[in-house]
Amino acid sequence: VSLIYLLGRNIYANYVNRNQTGTTVQGSDKIKIGFSLGTLKEERWIKDRDIIMAKVKELGAEIIVQNANNDDQDQLKQVKYLLEQNIDVLIIVPNDLIKAASAVELAKRQGVKVISYDRLVLNSNVDIYISFDSTEVGALMAQYIVDQVQNGNILIINGATSDHNTQMIKYGYDQVLQLQGEEQNIKVIEEYWSPNWMKEYAFKVTDELLQNKSKIDGIIAGNDGLADGVIEALSEHRMAGKTIVVGQDADLAACQRIVEGTQLMTVYKPIEKLADAAAKTAIQLAKGESLNNIQTTMYDGKYSVPYYVLEPIAVDKSNIEDTIIKDGFHMRDEVYRNS
Ligand code: BGC
Repeated sequence: VSLIYLLGRNIYANYVNRNQTGTTVQGSDKIKIGFSLGTLKEERWIKDRDIIMAKVKELGAEIIVQNANNDDQDQLKQVKYLLEQNIDVLIIVPNDLIKAASAVELAKRQGVKVISYDRLVLNSNVDIYISFDSTEVGALMAQYIVDQVQNGNILIINGATSDHNTQMIKYGYDQVLQLQGEEQNIKVIEEYWSPNWMKEYAFKVTDELLQNKSKIDGIIAGNDGLADGVIEALSEHRMAGKTIVVGQDADLAACQRIVEGTQLMTVYKPIEKLADAAAKTAIQLAKGESLNNIQTTMYDGKYSVPYYVLEPIAVDKSNIEDTIIKDGFHMRDEVYRNS
């Protein structure tokens, strides 16, 4: 029914457009989505952007995309711009978990529904939070480390403190490390937080520890970008492949490192599922449909918001074929390019 409805809308909108200037006209009833990204730095966000754009268009709606390049002020300005374009729904990946609340407030004041995408905006009662379970991401990372490193020293390089996922990941790995780490005599020697998830920072701190002759058996890197920095430092000290490194995102370079053996595991998040859920939910919200089917909630510091949660998958050499390659997330040839 909804497909026919959408097709109908689309034909009507095209009819109106043709009769005017051939471009989208004001007053056209085509649904308009605004997508505000905090960053496009990591490879995954390009996928998020491209898939969401394609899905929204497939559903007969329009989309405008903005990227704030890790700048909170710019993100606010860009959301204002999107609101001026009369969007029906805002999909936001906050650059800062707290500051982005002003952008959400502006949208809500204008009656625009808000989806917090991948990262949660705190204290702002968004209409829905759609994400992979970052607590599970952290748990998978730690589980892999404790399975591989029977006893020894662990280094942790977290992502940005301005990202709520960083807290969730930490919560996830802390639980596993507390439970199993003690039994196995696993010691966290240092823990760092990288501003804006900068890989240069991960390189620097790892390099300094290695220069000081610290013994590091395993490293939890908050994402594959940080893992990249860490492994660069390890290779300078001839330790790449010896120290166990885990990350997340299944970046192409990380998958290549996995088949080469310098990174052991990445937590894979099939972006297509996330983007698909966001695009469909945005259309539902624009049409004023309720989201009663979402039972899970997430506390944002003030409100419990509906939480559409997706499960991440730990990927190493043994299952890369059946997951990342099978899904077409990366092509086989690309993954094995350097091997
Ligand atoms: C995302 C990761 C990403 C990181 C840096 C996190 O919020 O969940 O997938 O690597 O931000 O952009």
